[in-house]
Amino acid sequence: MFQTQILQYLRQHGFQRMDTRTVMFDMDGVLFDSMPNHSRSWNLTMEHFGFHLSESEAYMHEGRTGASTINILSNRERGHDATPEEIEEIYGYKSMLFNACPPAEPMQGANDVIAKVKASGLTPVLVTGSGQRSLLDKINLSYPNVFSPEHLVTAFDVVHGKPDPEPYRMGLKKGGHLHPYQSIIIENAPLGVEAGVAAGVFTIAVNTGPLPDHILLDAGANLLFHSMQELATHWDSLYAALVDTQA
Ligand code: MG
Repeated sequence: MFQTQILQYLRQHGFQRMDTRTVMFDMDGVLFDSMPNHSRSWNLTMEHFGFHLSESEAYMHEGRTGASTINILSNRERGHDATPEEIEEIYGYKSMLFNACPPAEPMQGANDVIAKVKASGLTPVLVTGSGQRSLLDKINLSYPNVFSPEHLVTAFDVVHGKPDPEPYRMGLKKGGHLHPYQSIIIENAPLGVEAGVAAGVFTIAVNTGPLPDHILLDAGANLLFHSMQELATHWDSLYAALVDTQA
């Protein structure tokens, strides 16, 4: 069922076969239903400072640093970068609104995907642009004994965030100095998919937000599901197809 996409990936990158050892999970919008809080906070913050960023456009910027998102809007609407003071003030306001939101729930179906990944003998690795210590603590509360500390990549581990491939390259390194064909990625954001594809890794988009599917496919996703539950349902045949290419 999934052979076509896997063979196409192998051909594109000039790899002979898959040799899957780890699964790299993005966090916001994959493990936690936290994107509504982020996009609402961005929308209200930008309105407060006289800019315009709809909640659905905020999903397009998921994964960027706050400074970079602010500068994109500042250039679009004022024709120049924001000053460092403005960035600090605007991002501080956004963080304040975000921290006042009710805590995000674990994403429905994520635990089923993780259970299947572990049952397949693969190691889960977390690769997030987040540097929020509270959310990282939350990982261990909601997903106990899933991600070992040496298998976490956060904002503190990289210089360049997504869409740069550095976070996923770091994930390959922390997963055991792996080649790109030795892992797969689960991502919800266009810029996250771009980062995964640029790292040369087979990238599965899970469209848990309001964006049309084609945006994630245009970003280069090798496969697309509409929920973590749907991915869990198809995991066994997907994993069988991955193993098939090792024969
Ligand atoms: Mg995400």
